[in-house]
Amino acid sequence: MKEKKGNNLETEIIHAGYHPDPVTHSVSPPIYQTSTFAFDSAEHGAALFAGKEKGFIYTRLGNPTIEALEEAVAALEKGYAALATSSGMAAISTVYMAFLEKDAHLIGTAALYGPSRTIIETEFTRYGVSSDFIDTSDLEEIKKRIKKNTKLLFIESPANPTMALTDIQACAEIAKEHGLILVVDNTFASPVLQNPLELGADVTIHSVTKFINGHSDVVGGIIISKSPELHQRLQKVLRMMGGTMDPHQAWLVLRGLRTLYLRVEKAQDNAQKLAQWLAAHPKVAWVNYPGLPSHPQYDLMKKQMKGPGSMISFGLKGGYEAGIKLINSVKLCTLAVSLGGIETLIQHPASMTHASVPKKEKEEAGITDDLIRLSVGCENVDDLIADLEQALEKC
Ligand SMILES: *Cc1c(COP(=O)(O)O)cnc(C)c1O
Repeated sequence: MKEKKGNNLETEIIHAGYHPDPVTHSVSPPIYQTSTFAFDSAEHGAALFAGKEKGFIYTRLGNPTIEALEEAVAALEKGYAALATSSGMAAISTVYMAFLEKDAHLIGTAALYGPSRTIIETEFTRYGVSSDFIDTSDLEEIKKRIKKNTKLLFIESPANPTMALTDIQACAEIAKEHGLILVVDNTFASPVLQNPLELGADVTIHSVTKFINGHSDVVGGIIISKSPELHQRLQKVLRMMGGTMDPHQAWLVLRGLRTLYLRVEKAQDNAQKLAQWLAAHPKVAWVNYPGLPSHPQYDLMKKQMKGPGSMISFGLKGGYEAGIKLINSVKLCTLAVSLGGIETLIQHPASMTHASVPKKEKEEAGITDDLIRLSVGCENVDDLIADLEQALEKC
């Protein structure tokens, strides 16, 4: 069987990571639903454990189905290798565990995905880890916060739910100059729209729960490293901590991944039209979407992304009350957290995901009471507009 290769991302998304099975010629990769692998002999087992021979030992340490997904995403992110994890948070906690030692300091984006920040501020503090969560779109502010013990610069761009961007290339230069490891949570952009490793980052992570799987039916994560040294360090920690992905989960994610390009393109097209429509609507106060020239970082989006994606946040002139009315009135948009699936999801962070975040922290992260977040899906855009129109009439 021939290996299938092309020179373009659309082709690679469909074929990367799959090596045709020479025995059955199965077009879909097999699910190796096994916890353990038999050795031919004592010598064979010894050689595998010593790393002298390639092969599989035990699924927490490696499995061919999981490896197929890892190989595919590593190729799309232009990394050295990837490690699939049981959730996005397993990816993030593995990164923290691998690179933060006792009394280390971390600088992160203030609007980082909630638990990525909370775990540092409530759990890693027990090991003396300190942190500064700041507006990382302000490069001077990053430089000011660097200390002798700063180890990690952890950014999310676009950030949730404000759609604020951070200049990844500039952060990579700062990180290099000060010996920091730059980690980018690339969940919102997906590998189709942004490749942080190419912009100089050391490690990229994804919650594959979102765009990469894309069907709102799996929770998972992945870590992609630029170098063998970073990969080996992360692999060692992940194998011991045990946040490994399951083979069936990996197979589902790989199946979802194959349509990533089509989904991202369609959803982005819908989002661009919806953002323009919302911006012109009399009941809408403001729209945050990196694809609108009014977005303060429109030029940065063009520089570091291949497109603005399909996440929009907007505010209603009627504030908090109108926000509640809107999310209670939509019919086609689904009222749910999460994002990046084929269906359009709507949520109101002030009353939902960020309800327990202190007011000052919410303000610093740009999460106002009137903010509505839309994860635009792949439906017909006119149907989405009609749904939002009838709901806005009630606000
Ligand atoms: C959802 C999400 C995570 C966490 O991923 P899980 O798969 O839910 O553990 C991390 N970062 C971002 C940006 C996310 O949207």
